[in-house]
Amino acid sequence: MGDTTIKIPAELFATAESSRFQGTIEVPCLQAGPDTYRFAEPLPWSVDVTNTGSAFLVAGTVSGTGEVACSRCLEPVAYDFSGDIEGYFLMDEGDAAAFEGDEDAPGEDEFDLLPADHVIDLEPLILAALIVDAPSLPLCDEGCKGLCPACGADLNEGPCGCGKPADVAEFDKAANPFSVLADYDFSDN
Ligand SMILES: [Zn+2]
Ligand SMILES: [Zn+2]
Repeated sequence: MGDTTIKIPAELFATAESSRFQGTIEVPCLQAGPDTYRFAEPLPWSVDVTNTGSAFLVAGTVSGTGEVACSRCLEPVAYDFSGDIEGYFLMDEGDAAAFEGDEDAPGEDEFDLLPADHVIDLEPLILAALIVDAPSLPLCDEGCKGLCPACGADLNEGPCGCGKPADVAEFDKAANPFSVLADYDFSDN
């Protein structure tokens, strides 16, 4: 079982105090845009929690290897995540108003209120860190040739020989589940 909740101990309620927390998070699968990553192992995370006087600043990292389908050929690709965890928890609701007009203050969506029981669940922050770190176009290789848009054969294994030029597939681009491949240059085959 992963563990993503931390309880702010009493000694951290002194300004400038800082403390490190670590644990693991179980992420069986992570949706990042159109891509689904699967993790065989729980991911280790670590954060430093610092008392800024009016809030707790949470900053740390989460890392682990996820498996995703290559955007072009759909073969499995391993991606090593290294995400930056960031959070800001105000000690007092009244402090939110104090930020008004302060240009350096975090935006309204960027801070939370410290719960009355001083227990913070880091899970949403950790998942956000992973999603931000995920590549926009995971590839098995920069030079991956992808699938033939006409017959679907894996062009990394050689020419498909279906005889249809790639631009024939442009006709049903909208209906083709691999329409993303239509913009790929196949001319060097
Ligand atoms: Zn590929
Ligand atoms: Zn083909």
